[in-house]
Amino acid sequence: MPELPELEVARKTLKPCVAGKRIAGVLVERERSIRTPKEDARRFAAGLKDKKVESVERRGKALLFKMSGGTDVVFHYKLGALAVCRDNPVRQTDGVVWNFNDGSALEFTDMQLSEFHLAPEDELAALPVLKGGFDPLSSSLISWKLKELLPSRKQLKAALVDQKAIAGIGNNYSDEILWNARLNPFRKVSDLSEKEISELARQIQATLKESIKAGGESEFRDARGHHGRYQEKVHRRAGEPCPRDGHQIEMVKKGRKTFWCPQCQK
Ligand SMILES: [Zn+2]
Repeated sequence: MPELPELEVARKTLKPCVAGKRIAGVLVERERSIRTPKEDARRFAAGLKDKKVESVERRGKALLFKMSGGTDVVFHYKLGALAVCRDNPVRQTDGVVWNFNDGSALEFTDMQLSEFHLAPEDELAALPVLKGGFDPLSSSLISWKLKELLPSRKQLKAALVDQKAIAGIGNNYSDEILWNARLNPFRKVSDLSEKEISELARQIQATLKESIKAGGESEFRDARGHHGRYQEKVHRRAGEPCPRDGHQIEMVKKGRKTFWCPQCQK
């Protein structure tokens, strides 16, 4: 499931191939992905025709396409999808295509549970995906702020994936962040010392930035179709040696799966 780093890579790689372009036509072969207006491919296509893409922004785990005329588009990846720039018009798809005036296109496929929402900006603001918490890449994520943001009674793993606190961190990067910060995922937020909180804040940003630099995790593909190259240290590596000390990585399932090293995460 794409998390903040994958969304940021998608945004960065999509921007040069869509920003400033006008939509000549829209193909919808997967009507159930159109959630606003609900499963109405005709209105979705008509609402986008002749609109110019003014910018592409990231909001937690979703993309926001700002369009000319005040009606914007939210694309929520959910379990995953492929959004790829094409140099030529696309006439056939099993997903959704935006064909641009200049002959290029943007094609969305492999959508699984992904959703499109086309609506005026103020209506989109009510979507749960846009109502997420603090953006962890913001420069003000310093320790005092982090302590204020995280639900103090929750365990660290559960606190990091709480979208109402911080937007965009899921199962994958919460494991990676806590390994980088050498913190036991099952400790309570309220138990952390000032030093540990400040290290956690530092590692949240360092981990997300490391993955963005690598193009996201390996199952993710950017707007040019390139796979990410981020190498997980502990996530989905149960039974493998910890890269820091060689101790066996463990997996604990309490609703969600948590991967960690009991030797170096205290
Ligand atoms: Zn270890």
